[in-house]
Amino acid sequence: MDPKHKQGVAYDNEDERRKGYLTAQNRHASKPWMCSYCNVTIRKGNRSNHLKSKKHCYNLTSNNAFII
Ligand SMILES: [Zn+2]
Repeated sequence: MDPKHKQGVAYDNEDERRKGYLTAQNRHASKPWMCSYCNVTIRKGNRSNHLKSKKHCYNLTSNNAFII
């Protein structure tokens, strides 16, 4: 099985393939993502940082306490 054929995308060489991958990654990372706990909209690329932030942890625990 040819993997290029399977993906439906053909790149001329490894460099082009990587560029295409990075572009897709950046497009994904710049999409907005909303944190329902903090009621803020951030970029998807910052999501993992946000989820580890003190502010988020505080909102997470206080919102859970509120629900219980
Ligand atoms: Zn949050």
